Amino acid sequence: MRGVCAFSSARAAASLPSASIGSVRVTCGVAAKSAHLQPGQQQRFSSSWRRDEPAPPFAFAFDIDGVLLHVAKPIPGATETLRFLNESNIPFILLTNGGGKREADRVQDLSEKLGVYLTTDNFVQSHTPFKQLVDGPESLRNKTILVTGSDYEKCRAIAKSYGFQNVVTPADILAAHPSIFPFRPVTDILATAQPLPKPLFNTTSTTRLEEALKIDAMFVFDDPRDWAADVQLITDLLLSRNGYLGTYSALNGNETLPSCGWQQDGQPPLYFSNGDLLWSATYHLPRFGQGAFQATVAGVWHRVTGGHELQRRVIGKPQAETYEYAERVLGVHRHDILRSKGFHEPGTLKAVYMVGDNPESDIAGANGHVSENGTQWTSVLVKTGVWSEERGGEKALQGRLKPKVIVADVKEAVKWALVQEGWKGTY
Ligand SMILES: [Mg+2]
Repeated sequence: MRGVCAFSSARAAASLPSASIGSVRVTCGVAAKSAHLQPGQQQRFSSSWRRDEPAPPFAFAFDIDGVLLHVAKPIPGATETLRFLNESNIPFILLTNGGGKREADRVQDLSEKLGVYLTTDNFVQSHTPFKQLVDGPESLRNKTILVTGSDYEKCRAIAKSYGFQNVVTPADILAAHPSIFPFRPVTDILATAQPLPKPLFNTTSTTRLEEALKIDAMFVFDDPRDWAADVQLITDLLLSRNGYLGTYSALNGNETLPSCGWQQDGQPPLYFSNGDLLWSATYHLPRFGQGAFQATVAGVWHRVTGGHELQRRVIGKPQAETYEYAERVLGVHRHDILRSKGFHEPGTLKAVYMVGDNPESDIAGANGHVSENGTQWTSVLVKTGVWSEERGGEKALQGRLKPKVIVADVKEAVKWALVQEGWKGTY
């Protein structure tokens, strides 16, 4: 599948030596300002680490929802913990399966909610690694991609901010060809429609195939809303000839071919930005996330093809690509911040503590991550989010889901890690 190749090339980029890290660096770069910050606060330095001592050889990776925030409100201890790390020059990265906003917008929002100075330099959303597909040997920069998610216009804006030049949404297609989805859309999506770059292929029109709209890749940026329309268009493209919407591959169902010809005719690869079935929201029980949409697409595909598995690529936690990407972003950020604070040689990053609330994503990903740099990732589960002793409890934490330690909250998580690292300062 082309999707596999595409992310294989991304992995190759992610394994470049440190001198080349800048090629995958988060570049939004504008530091968000917190309403709670005083001018110059981020410049202050107060730490028990002296600059003639080695730089801290460890760092943190924090999930956001259920660790730092719960329904947009700071979890007790989160703000003081991040401020402590900032002031102590202990690097951290925010690694979330959330998305649907540009990184700069989300960081500004987070800074204001948490009252902590944050930047896009240490921030990775579920779809952030998609930017690796803009360039490289199978560059999608000038190809045409279909994006979907909770807000088509925001998804388009995010994709364009990454460098994708030709971005189509389901709204664009539905507005141009209402008959492709013979139901009224659930939401008012058509107001966001933009003209299609090329007409749709239609057997009754004079449009030649090579002049028709061809989709080269499909991306689910965050949790879709209008599932029926999205499932229809995604399935149409998975059945198409070489990604030309409105065609049907002659290879489909050919039993002499691998996978009986399904997804064997140059159809666009399908990417999901995270696989979370559940997430912690305002309601007292967990709610369906993007993983439920993925299961729906896969279930429909299973029925359409008579039992074949949907070929797709899923990133986000706990996938290896996301942890590899996150470690590289953290490495660059750590180097920059420690050098800016007077540590002439930041040294090797020996340990990262992944603090999360979701065993299926945060904990499994950290446990399974094998660092190319020898960095040891340690999983720390908190009780402030989706996991609870009532829902599954510790007996559900087996194998890859078993954290190194379970603590009450993020403050306790950092405290525990500092003990492991022999931290001599106060906390
Ligand atoms: Mg979470």
